[in-house]
Amino acid sequence: MSDLPSPPALKRPPQHVPMSQFAQQDGELLIGGQPLTRLAARVGQTPFYAYDRQLLKARVAQLRAALPASVKLHYAMKANPMPAVVAWMAGLVDGIDVASAGELKVALDAGADPAEVSFAGPGKRDIELAQAVAAGVLINVESARELAPLAAASARLGLPARVAVRVNPDFELKGSGMRMGGGPKQFGVDAEAVPELLREIGRLGLAFEGFHLFAGSQNLRAESICEAQQKSYELALSLAAHAPAPVKFLNLGGGFGIPYFPGEGLLDLAPIAANLLQLADRAARELPHASLVIELGRYLVGEAGVYVTRVVDRKLSRGQVYLVTDGGLNHHLSASGNFGQVLRKNYPVSLVKAKGPQGGPTEQATVVGPLCTPLDLLADRMELPVAAEGDLVVIFQSGAYGASASPAGFLSHPNCVEVLV
Ligand SMILES: *Cc1c(COP(=O)(O)O)cnc(C)c1O
Repeated sequence: MSDLPSPPALKRPPQHVPMSQFAQQDGELLIGGQPLTRLAARVGQTPFYAYDRQLLKARVAQLRAALPASVKLHYAMKANPMPAVVAWMAGLVDGIDVASAGELKVALDAGADPAEVSFAGPGKRDIELAQAVAAGVLINVESARELAPLAAASARLGLPARVAVRVNPDFELKGSGMRMGGGPKQFGVDAEAVPELLREIGRLGLAFEGFHLFAGSQNLRAESICEAQQKSYELALSLAAHAPAPVKFLNLGGGFGIPYFPGEGLLDLAPIAANLLQLADRAARELPHASLVIELGRYLVGEAGVYVTRVVDRKLSRGQVYLVTDGGLNHHLSASGNFGQVLRKNYPVSLVKAKGPQGGPTEQATVVGPLCTPLDLLADRMELPVAAEGDLVVIFQSGAYGASASPAGFLSHPNCVEVLV
């Protein structure tokens, strides 16, 4: 026994959560059960995105098991609008949320039931509103301006215009990566203006079906999500008193986040499930015609996807190793840190050698894409196996806000490919 003070504990820097959703074989990552190098050969090019259908299915099953059975689960397809993904998701969830006429087309092509499709988004053009009425989907009204064209389309087509009111609440989703409600916003109708809007909906004879509230995105704090859902419910309940018809759909938003950066953990579903159970009980009494809906994008698809790009050059600049790859922010803006992040941090990244064995000695390397801008950064000084030309760099947590959220035309490189495996 020594009475010397023990040395200060070595502080381990924050780590990424392990990407254990993907299995490995002989040290090589498997996507959709296939070794990555073989999948790359099958795709025939890099860069590409690959989404794992079994992981998508497992995620939906995990949510269904946790959440009350009466809560409807919608997929907000702007997170990943690849038609094959939307078709797969349409078979798993209760409804699809679209944000443009283009997304509406993909959802309907995918076989989504129009009765369970909703259409939100600011600046809906008259033609989009008319397309939505003709399709028979629920339109989340974001502005009083939308009412007249909806009534006109309804009269012209001889079809009801199914509407819900998207409310801009008087609170924000605390701790969310991207706030989309509270204060002045382009989204939804300010809560205080909703009673008058509801009267106008009644006067015009539109088919009122409910409310939509969406406070924000990418939240990893269950308490904040519960609080937002609780407040959203209260607000909708008070507004329901002014509604021209019973509430059929009460969309409480989502905002469930996934861990992207070192130090971030998995969202704890248990408190959210408990809170929703309590709200579902209340709704059964207070809004007896209403289904509670939650709409999720990245939580459903984000962890099931990877972006794969190939090392074109390994260069050394004043002691720093650079792996220059054939794709970067032109395909994956969010991994480069330029999609709304305040401080750039690394996504989880791994290296797969073109020729085995995998693993081996590591070094600190910076992974950059081929664009002539310092913003084209995929991994900043990460410890990776020593890489050679031809090896594959894998960016995890890439199933949401990837290809469709990136400036593919910037610098005129070839497009990436997307596969669902
Ligand atoms: C973007 C968006 C979503 C999806 O957000 P995620 O963070 O991907 O879950 C859901 N609802 C609305 C209204 C949105 O605009």
